[in-house]
Amino acid sequence: MTNFIKFQNPDHPKCQNKNCYNSRQEAEKVKQEQELMDIKQELKLKIYRCANCGKFHLTRAKN
Ligand SMILES: [Zn+2]
Repeated sequence: MTNFIKFQNPDHPKCQNKNCYNSRQEAEKVKQEQELMDIKQELKLKIYRCANCGKFHLTRAKN
């Protein structure tokens, strides 16, 4: 039996063109990979919990 919270807009257009991660650990792994792949080593990503789909997305962190 699944026990996850229902969010208002699981198919929100803002989420459709983003990668969603089911767990913070998964997002963290991809975050590190993408930061390492950046040639200039300037890429900094931030993990956040999405209020629309309830999953995790990555966004560019601004200094
Ligand atoms: Zn989302």
